[in-house]
Order: sequence, then C-alpha cells, then structure tokens
Amino acid sequence: MKKSIAILGSTGSIGTQTLDVVRQHPDRFSVYMISANNSAELLIEQARAFKVPHVVICNPSKYNQVCAALPWADVRLGIDAACELVQDRSVDVVVAAMVGFSGLKPTLAAIEASKTIALANKETLVAAGAIVMKAAARHKAPIYPVDSEHSAIFQCLLGAQGNKLSRIHLTASGGPFRTWEKGRIAAATKNEALRHPNWDMGAKITIDSATMMNKGLEIIEAGRLFDVSGDDIDVVVHRESIIHSLVEFTDNSVLAQLGVPDMRIPIQYAITYPMRYPSPVAELDLAQIGRLSFFEPDYDTFTCLRACKKAFAMGGAATAIANGANEEANALFRRGKIKCLEIGELVMGAVDSIPNFSPACVQDILDADRQARAFVTEHVGG
Ligand code: MG
Repeated sequence: MKKSIAILGSTGSIGTQTLDVVRQHPDRFSVYMISANNSAELLIEQARAFKVPHVVICNPSKYNQVCAALPWADVRLGIDAACELVQDRSVDVVVAAMVGFSGLKPTLAAIEASKTIALANKETLVAAGAIVMKAAARHKAPIYPVDSEHSAIFQCLLGAQGNKLSRIHLTASGGPFRTWEKGRIAAATKNEALRHPNWDMGAKITIDSATMMNKGLEIIEAGRLFDVSGDDIDVVVHRESIIHSLVEFTDNSVLAQLGVPDMRIPIQYAITYPMRYPSPVAELDLAQIGRLSFFEPDYDTFTCLRACKKAFAMGGAATAIANGANEEANALFRRGKIKCLEIGELVMGAVDSIPNFSPACVQDILDADRQARAFVTEHVGG
C-alpha cells in the first residue's frame, strides 16, 4: 500500500525536498494534496509532475491561473480549504512545511483528524506548543520531527529503551556570522545574512539562522517535543553541521546522530518511520571531513538566543510573543527597514514588555502574536 501524503507549503524549501524524496520512491508514496501561498507557477508544475488530485493556493489573485492550468484537478482557494483537505480519509501523512505561524491552523486540523504529522514548521510548536502537544495526545496523532536537530534527538531516543534523557545537546552551525565581530554583524546587509555556510533553506529561516533566533526557536521546539526544560538543553556551535544533535543519559553516556547536512534525510525518515530506505543523499566520509569542532555560543551578541531561553522559562504566551515579534522583525530586516542586531532587541523587548498570560485556546495565541507584531511595528515606526 502506498502512503498518501499531503504537503502544506509544497513550493518552499522543505516542500520541494519532500517531493524529491517522493520522486525517489514512486512505489511507496503518492501525493494527495499540495498547497502554496503564492508560488503559482511552481505549484502548477508540481501538480502536473506528481499528478496531484487536490491543489490549494492561498493568494486569491493566483486562483484563476491555477484553475486554468489544472483543469483535471480539484483546485481550491485559501487556508480553510487546506484545513479541510488534510482531514480527508485518504490522507496518511501530513507534511507541515508552511513558513511561520500561518502553519498552525492546518497543522491542528490534521492533528484533530489523527493524521501522522511530519513537522517542519517549528513556529507551530513555539507559539502554541501546549495546545498542539495536548491535541496530538488526545487525537493520537504521532508527530515526527523534520527539523534536522529534532530528528537527530528523536533517533537517539530510540536507543533510550525507556530511560529518561538527562540533557539535550543541540548543535548549531552558528550561521553566516559565526566568526564575525559584533560591530560587523551590526552593519550586516540582508544579502550577507542570506549566505548560509552549510544549509540551503528558505529566506525566513536563513535570517533566523544568522541571528541565531532559529536555534532559540529550536530550544523551545525540543523542549516541547521531548518534554525537557530549557535548563536541560545546551546549545553548542558545531560549524561542520555533521552531528545533528546529541542526547545525554544519567550515566553521562551520550548518543549522537550524524550525516551530511541534507534535509532529505530527516524528511524521508519522518515520512517513512520506522522504516529506513535508500536515499539520494551522499554517504558520510569521516576521513575526508577530518575533524569536528565545538564552541560555546556567543549569548552576548545573539540576543535572540537569550530572548528565546527567557520566553521558554516564562512559559504561557511568552514563546508566542517571542515568535510573533521575530516574524515581524525578520520581515522588516528583509525589507531593509532595520539592522540585523535590532531583531534580537525587538524580540527581547516584546518578551520583557508585553504582559505574559496563560493562553487557553488558539484565539489567545493569535492575540499574543498580534500584540507582539504591533510592539515591533510601533518601535520601528518611532
Ligand atoms: Mg534545524
């Protein structure tokens, strides 16, 4: 039996790599639904190449174009259509690969229909972790992480045999500014921030990587997925991105997962778990790599990292606030409106200034997100 896959965000970096994995295993997977926000041309091309019966475009101005190009397909408009389609009986696995907070609603819809979730959208867990994890437990929807670090932790924990982990060592490439002085980072341009040394990813996450916000979000993501407090998660800068994270046990024994930095390994494992199949990714040649290095992260320069740790320790709506402030500030930086290090100041400012509260429902999370974005817009405007 083929597994039927729905991909939320099929035209992004994770979405296209997921389709690359599907292309390698035509006998194992079929694509039931793909969705995109804006990239109509690529969406059309994907629907044709994989004969996808259900296609969702979120931008209304692109709807007619997609309909006209795919007369044989069920083409629908908007996020609510994506929420409906992921709940269809025929869907086995939902790949949640939309960018940012917008992924929350369809991911929750898939969880409520007890689908297997391959989760790439870390903002979902950061903003609404408690709600998402509770819903996943209630509806018995397994969540398999796609994020390389979390896939590594997940894989290491398969060797735990019921023993509780005592510490997670989350590896960080350090992004493009890992060797830069603080003053030089302060003046960095968007294009410099977009030049990631190891990973080929979308623009939002690449900027998050330059500010180390990405690692801050990943601390929270790891805490939520594996039920670990922030104090038990250490970040270590590992420039080579060969070790994707490590797990430590009470006896100080440490397990790690290694591989070349290519997202197709964790994507494939998330959709084939517990099975492993051949992959197009290169073998790991340790002798050629020669050595692996590890450093303490620079918490002074990378305020985002501190802000996320703080927000995670505060709990409640604080992580949604940190995420919302970052999404807004990240976009402002990409539009040339603010400097790179201002992103961290704005995220920390939002976490410190907006009164924290205990969110009871998705609407509360949306409120926290809106307040955080307003905080950033006001401070940049002034
Ligand atoms: Mg990652």
